[in-house]
Amino acid sequence: MPIQERSILLRDLRNYLTFLKDYGFSEIPSESGVTLELQSGTKELPFSSIYTDKTSHMKTNKNIPTKPNISIENVREELGDCTRCNLHKDRKTIVFGSGNPHANLVFVGEGPGADEDEQGFPFVGRAGRKLTEIIEKGMNLSREEDTYICNIVKCRPPNNRDPKPDEIAACNPFLIRQLQAIRPKAIVALGKPAASTLLGRTVPIMKERGNWYEYEGIPLMLTLHPAYLLRAYTIENRRNVMDDMNKVLTKLKK
Ligand code: URA
Repeated sequence: MPIQERSILLRDLRNYLTFLKDYGFSEIPSESGVTLELQSGTKELPFSSIYTDKTSHMKTNKNIPTKPNISIENVREELGDCTRCNLHKDRKTIVFGSGNPHANLVFVGEGPGADEDEQGFPFVGRAGRKLTEIIEKGMNLSREEDTYICNIVKCRPPNNRDPKPDEIAACNPFLIRQLQAIRPKAIVALGKPAASTLLGRTVPIMKERGNWYEYEGIPLMLTLHPAYLLRAYTIENRRNVMDDMNKVLTKLKK
């Protein structure tokens, strides 16, 4: 394997192990019987660079190919009729993603709810209608043509509980591959679980929303989840989300 690819893989692995440790995992069992202990170490990831909106230029990762060599259809095929985690037991449908696989903008949410599980598409329930409103009325974009929307887990967690670390872990390779296939100009993480999964560490979302980060060289904006916005429908929260989306629009125009 070329050395550049290997260092990207190692970086992703380190990010991911830190994420598991933050979530409370202390070891990883393997089929070979060898147990890998997650050592306590630095929580600061040297390679996740934060850019505030005042930053005049975004650093891009030159190691990442700019053209995708995988398609979203390939990724869906790889996922198949997935039984990699327990979520498959209660799901009705796999909610893979929807929108334009060549879009410049990708939204990443947490996981399907009852409506999404029923219909097979992400963000079609109440939170979904709020997200559509943000995209279409707030940003003046077309949800279907200008964006692609997916989640960190593709199957509904029972009773809408939070996805568990092992469920997020089982689905993560497919999220990574989706983003590699699309390679948008910007990604928006909706809420803490999406932000934490993409950055590989536990993200205090209220503190860090509104800032630019990078995911594999792609600008990543963190914002509030639309379901949270509906629960805490304050002027401040709505203004914050719109401020974040305006930053995204500015980035897309560059
Ligand atoms: N909330 C999410 O995070 N994703 C969906 O698809 C629906 C609601």
